[in-house]
Amino acid sequence: MGVRDRRVLHAIELVPRPCFVPIEGRSRSWNNAPVPIGEGQTISQPYTVAAMVELAAIAEGANVLEVGAGSGYAAAVMAVLAGPRGVVTAVEIRRALSERARENLDAARAVVDESQQIPGGWNGAAAQIVVVHGDGKEGYAGAAPFDAIICSAQARSVPPRLFEQLGDRGVLVAPVYGGGTATMTTFRRAGDSFLETHHGLYSFVPLV
Ligand code: SAH
Repeated sequence: MGVRDRRVLHAIELVPRPCFVPIEGRSRSWNNAPVPIGEGQTISQPYTVAAMVELAAIAEGANVLEVGAGSGYAAAVMAVLAGPRGVVTAVEIRRALSERARENLDAARAVVDESQQIPGGWNGAAAQIVVVHGDGKEGYAGAAPFDAIICSAQARSVPPRLFEQLGDRGVLVAPVYGGGTATMTTFRRAGDSFLETHHGLYSFVPLV
């Protein structure tokens, strides 16, 4: 579906997605469709996560922020890309979901797929993940500056704090909503300016 970065495809392969889907939706967890995770929210479809993290160009050791942790799945995929020296901070505004994201991540960490031959399973290859209950429109100053910021909910404009907390050469990826759909938009910082590029149409739950 257009995602070519082998590191991204490998990360998607490694993370046990069913651990992030409630039991009633689990048989559909690998469908390329959003699945309900409670509180009226959805886990993004695998292709959408792959496309977003490919755009974010997450390198080994990266310091990453996600706005909208939801199930915790995208955070886990990004943690594999950032590797053991990286950090992923995932902010979630709905308390129940932030708690569930932590539980899902714990459950997923316990999955060791022998076929993948990584000591400690996917988790052995992953960055530390910190799930924060809070308003991601504020970013997370305590862990800034970030090499990559992913916004997993759509908004008419990107909250200014997120630009402020993006490090030099950092990339912010966000679905920017207008006229019924959201355009996947990246902003790469170069000093005080941002290079904006557009990457297709998507549909996300709203940033609140
Ligand atoms: N990346 C998630 C998908 C999450 S859907 C996954 O892999 O499962 C978007 C999430 O953004 C929802 O959980 C919603 O509660 C959350 N959200 C919406 N507005 C937010 C805000 N202002 N700050 C933090 N999270 C927010």
